[in-house]
Amino acid sequence: RAKHDGKGMFHFFEPSLDVQARQRREMELDLRTAIREGGFELYFQPLYSLKEDRLKAFEALIRWPHPEKGMISPADFIPLAEDTGLIVQIGEWVIREACHQAASWPGDLSVAVNVSPKQFLSPNIAGVVMSALASSGLPATRLELEITESIFISNVEKTLGALHSLRALGVRIALDDFGTGYSSLSYLRSFPFDKLKIDQSFVRDLTQDASAHAVIRAITTLADALGMETLAEGVEDEAQAEILRKEGCRQIQGYWLSRPIDARATQQYIERMRGEAGVLRRTA
Ligand code: C2E
Ligand code: MG
Ligand code: MG
Ligand code: MG
Repeated sequence: RAKHDGKGMFHFFEPSLDVQARQRREMELDLRTAIREGGFELYFQPLYSLKEDRLKAFEALIRWPHPEKGMISPADFIPLAEDTGLIVQIGEWVIREACHQAASWPGDLSVAVNVSPKQFLSPNIAGVVMSALASSGLPATRLELEITESIFISNVEKTLGALHSLRALGVRIALDDFGTGYSSLSYLRSFPFDKLKIDQSFVRDLTQDASAHAVIRAITTLADALGMETLAEGVEDEAQAEILRKEGCRQIQGYWLSRPIDARATQQYIERMRGEAGVLRRTA
């Protein structure tokens, strides 16, 4: 459909759609370049055990410092990477780099890596993980993979197959953003998750809303009964952390502990947490 734009020009598409399509194509080309030239970076955010009162792990979060556009957040390029299939290559880099970084951390600190559905269901996922563990020297028990509930809308058989072969390696699997997606409780019975990561939307209302307490309590009770760990995402203040501790949530993650930080700052964070006693306790 031709459209007059008022400047004596005719466009054959809605200008906005045209612009969007062009931006997507441009971004796809930029993503390909970034894959080729190593243009991504990993940031890390601490996962803290309330139960043991110590640092347990870091979640690896991808960042894309774009040469012209500045830092692009994953929310702005992971969906396109997923649509184009580029996520498989990007995600492989993330797994390798995360394992490599974690292997340099002291003690038994783990790393958690986000894996998108297309990547999780790609035929060689277990091979990629095995090879990343072997070349980094990281023990499988120190790697945790995070998948979201959206995985359930695709092939259930394939998902189960991948879950079992990864767990056979000794890798742990967490269900990310729990409570926001499609999950039916029956999935929790048939899929072997090690951890439920309670979505930050449930944490946000904790200090105002009694029903938010009830939801957290129900999730932790259920997870305990199924032998799964719980972690609350998006913990921004001490009051939320205290409620979560009281409601039996095992681990927390959020700006209260730290924003995501680069690899160097992560090393410094670990050193600071170790303090003089050499224990990974929160000192502040
Ligand atoms: P996610 O896995 O649920 O990661 C948590 C997100 O919440 C991160 O956003 C983190 O910066 C943010 N966050 C952490 N604590 C707080 C808090 O206290 N308050 C608030 N408001 N936000 C907090 P980020 O880094 O922008 O990542 C967004 C999403 O992008 C991630 O959500 C994950 O789904 C995806 N993602 C990130 N890295 C990767 C990756 O390497 N591969 C894949 N497939 N997806 C990734
Ligand atoms: Mg995650
Ligand atoms: Mg999450
Ligand atoms: Mg989230």
